[in-house]
Amino acid sequence: SDFTDQLGRSLEGLVATVTDPFSDTVVRLGVTGLSRAGKTVFITGLVANLMDRGRMPQLKAEASRRIEAAWLQPQPDDTVARFDFEGHLAALTGDDPHWPASTRSVSELRLSFRVQPEGLFSGLMGTQTVHLDIVDYPGEWLLDLALLDKDYATWAEETLIRMAKRPQGAEFLAVARAEDGALAHDELRAQALAAGFTDYLQAARAAGWSDCTPGRFLLPGDLVGSPVLTFAPLPLPATQGRGSLWREMERRFEAYKAKVVKPFFRTHFSRIDRQVVLVDVLGAIHAGPQALEDLRQTMADILKAFRPGRNGFLSEILMGRRVEKILFAATKADHLHHSQHAALTAITEALVREARDRAAFAGAEVAAMSIASIRATVEEEVPQGDSSLPMVRGRLLTTGKQAALYPGELPSDPARLLSPARQGAERWLGADYAMMSFGPARFTRRPGEGPPHIRLDRAAEFLIGDRL
Ligand code: GDP
Repeated sequence: SDFTDQLGRSLEGLVATVTDPFSDTVVRLGVTGLSRAGKTVFITGLVANLMDRGRMPQLKAEASRRIEAAWLQPQPDDTVARFDFEGHLAALTGDDPHWPASTRSVSELRLSFRVQPEGLFSGLMGTQTVHLDIVDYPGEWLLDLALLDKDYATWAEETLIRMAKRPQGAEFLAVARAEDGALAHDELRAQALAAGFTDYLQAARAAGWSDCTPGRFLLPGDLVGSPVLTFAPLPLPATQGRGSLWREMERRFEAYKAKVVKPFFRTHFSRIDRQVVLVDVLGAIHAGPQALEDLRQTMADILKAFRPGRNGFLSEILMGRRVEKILFAATKADHLHHSQHAALTAITEALVREARDRAAFAGAEVAAMSIASIRATVEEEVPQGDSSLPMVRGRLLTTGKQAALYPGELPSDPARLLSPARQGAERWLGADYAMMSFGPARFTRRPGEGPPHIRLDRAAEFLIGDRL
């Protein structure tokens, strides 16, 4: 029952305080999602609102006034870039508000809270310090996990097959098929092939395809130009002698796995307690059925990282640790009137259902939500005949002018939406959606109030509420 739960928790808390009064709680929250999903804006909006808390009524610790203070502190990891919270917040809330630069690599930020503990013996315990370590990293890097199970020949073949299904792949495919991997390795050839392959990945990403691995080809960080990023998929030649181009490509692929993929999982991923996966569901719906299907498959692949049992390497580095809670959040919900939010959440749930079932998450608690990390619009009902159209109004990035737009109907039946029979047929979301690049709204910041958002407080309650 609730009472025994609460009693149990209070006793645990009391025992912990008496036995070790100086131990602080540390929660490591991973924030990921494919490029442009909204990670940077999410962390900025979340931290600003957790610091100010005037717009966080659904965060229970705040509603019960138990959070006494929240402040930024030096992070525990000295060699990881610090998330540029101040710079990003200034971009969003300055006189000329604009979207900040997106996530390119891994970064970290520590937010600490002083909280009055909850429960029966709280009076005896004094205040408690909780550190929230937020780790921002590209979702593309999680997809690289699948590479660990593959040798170069298999990976190259699969990648070339995938490329054949995408118009952006035609050019590289022709080059790769014409290449003779049995010839002696030539660095300039290798560079040209890697550049062509990278161009394809970039074009595919821009066209809305989700799986554009290897992850570092799109987000190379300081590895740009290094041999681990100078390879490309080639068809298997009849012979693969020592010193051949094919052999060198194979060697670099293996180096990418050992020196790029594995260290990321070991240093960053293995220490995460809670995870939020941000998904640009609206963007994929707009791009059409194929892009949505691609996103669904990519989410299933991303989630394999959360099912360590199936992966020898992961089970080994995790040693029984696991992510306790995972939130899937459809971002940019401020493009829709609230009457359409339930439909967006239902689509998000359908989108990750298979992934979630297949992953069977060994006890992790999972939820789906529609959010806006920084709300750029206001709602407006525009009369149309007998009824009215639920629109959103904001400042268009293109013209700088205010406009009220209606993005169109969301597909109503999420299950059918994702069924193979619908592939390739229609486009969803009306023409207005294509124009909906709103800039962040100018707002006058009142003391104690973070930037406007939608459901960030619910997201925070799900992710860390039990630790505050
Ligand atoms: P990242 O690549 O995952 O770090 O993505 P960003 O956080 O940089 O977000 C990418 C873009 O999505 C931003 O530049 C905005 O245009 C848009 N965006 C992100 N979050 C929101 C939001 O809450 N509301 C709106 N309207 N747009 C958003």
